[in-house]
Amino acid sequence: MNLIILGPPGAGKGTQSEKMVETFGLVQLSTGDMLRAEVKSGSEPGDETKNIMDLGELVPDDRIVAMISKQIDKPSTVKGFILDGFPRTTVQARALDAMLSEKSLKMDHVIQLVVDENVIVERLSGRFSCSECGVGYHDSFKNPVEDGKCDKCGAQEFLRRSDDKPETVRSRLLAYREQTAPIIPFYSDKGVLQSIDGMGTVEEVFDKINEIVAGG
Ligand code: ADP
Ligand code: ADP
Ligand code: ZN
Repeated sequence: MNLIILGPPGAGKGTQSEKMVETFGLVQLSTGDMLRAEVKSGSEPGDETKNIMDLGELVPDDRIVAMISKQIDKPSTVKGFILDGFPRTTVQARALDAMLSEKSLKMDHVIQLVVDENVIVERLSGRFSCSECGVGYHDSFKNPVEDGKCDKCGAQEFLRRSDDKPETVRSRLLAYREQTAPIIPFYSDKGVLQSIDGMGTVEEVFDKINEIVAGG
């Protein structure tokens, strides 16, 4: 089963993808995570990537498409994959279509998480994650069970993303409205888009995703 999970920054794409990985053994392909790993590696393209991300702008399409293509080809995607944060432009959506037909693969579901902008700001300003395993948390909605200790791996260091500060969030929302939102009609015209309310609890949203997945 191959899925795309769409939605603005902070919609819950990463959170829901994590749950899909645990439940269905899918591989999560997050372009944001891949780019952050590249920045962390200290390579030269990483410096340029960091500048783009800190401005809240998008990394060039050709680089992103090549990155995803390489990941889809890995044997670990045999049970399927979930695209989180990709495609993010109509150029990427078209390139994905071409890439999938070339690889004789298809998307089973394209799921859009719909959330209000005020919720986005609240979610991003409280977001943090484990520095070891990357699992996501939130100051108000999801703290570790034991204070200061990751539920999944026990690590005691956490990270906040530099692009989750309010100025950068504004640019990211603009990039979403101008460059990413236009892919919604691209998928609805194909008749594959399913939109769900992303404003409930994590479990409520996950139940809705499961209904879609179970329905075919
Ligand atoms: P995205 O990957 O779409 O940017 P995340 O999954 O990282 O979004 O979620 C952003 C923040 O909001 C995280 O801190 C996460 O723990 C929290 N969060 C995600 N889904 C919900 C929800 N349904 N209710 C409350 N908080 C949520
Ligand atoms: P979120 O879903 O919370 O907005 P991501 O982790 O998906 O965050 O993305 C963080 C940043 O990485 C984006 O603001 C952008 O600069 C870059 N990025 C991630 N995915 C893409 C993509 N598909 N195309 C271009 N840039 C991307
Ligand atoms: Zn951890």
